[in-house]
Amino acid sequence: MIPTLVLVGRPNVGKSTLFNRLTKTRDALVADLPGLTRDRHYGHGRMGNQPFLVVDTGGFEPTAKDGIVHEMARQAESAIAEADVLLFIVDGRAGLTPQDQAIADRLRKSGRPLHLVVNKAEGMVRAMVAAEFHEMGCGDPLVISAAHGDGVRELVELALEPW
Ligand code: GDP
Ligand code: MG
Repeated sequence: MIPTLVLVGRPNVGKSTLFNRLTKTRDALVADLPGLTRDRHYGHGRMGNQPFLVVDTGGFEPTAKDGIVHEMARQAESAIAEADVLLFIVDGRAGLTPQDQAIADRLRKSGRPLHLVVNKAEGMVRAMVAAEFHEMGCGDPLVISAAHGDGVRELVELALEPW
């Protein structure tokens, strides 16, 4: 069985940048405009001889009631249902936000294996970043830079450990 890793998080945290790195493509749209990825994007990755699927989702705002943001949340809900592993991406530069907390609560309820990934952390002190995000209650945060590739290999190895 090929495990499916699903990238979830609010807009602009770097999900599509990570997707592109994991799948070694430029398929996902990366932009300074939050929320560009409105539907789900699927890609293939490989770690050693272990293949995996990656799903990129649009920005996730679980409380949205209508409009595009609601549609994006609906897509994210479908992706969560397909996930073998959830990678919950937050922005290490923006710090912890109430939106992140709401998403964390939703993801925990899914009962799926969940890893908290703190992105955009190039040049930051890992231990400090990890300490800040620890209070989200999603375990030990994985501190990465999707743009530079720092920590990405370790992240995939951890996510795929059960396989
Ligand atoms: P998404 O909305 O979550 O898919 O986020 P994107 O992948 O589209 O990235 C949003 C913005 O963050 C873009 O300007 C990216 O270049 C930038 N970004 C993504 N990853 C990193 C990173 O590791 N470090 C920094 N400094 N910026 C990043
Ligand atoms: Mg995106």
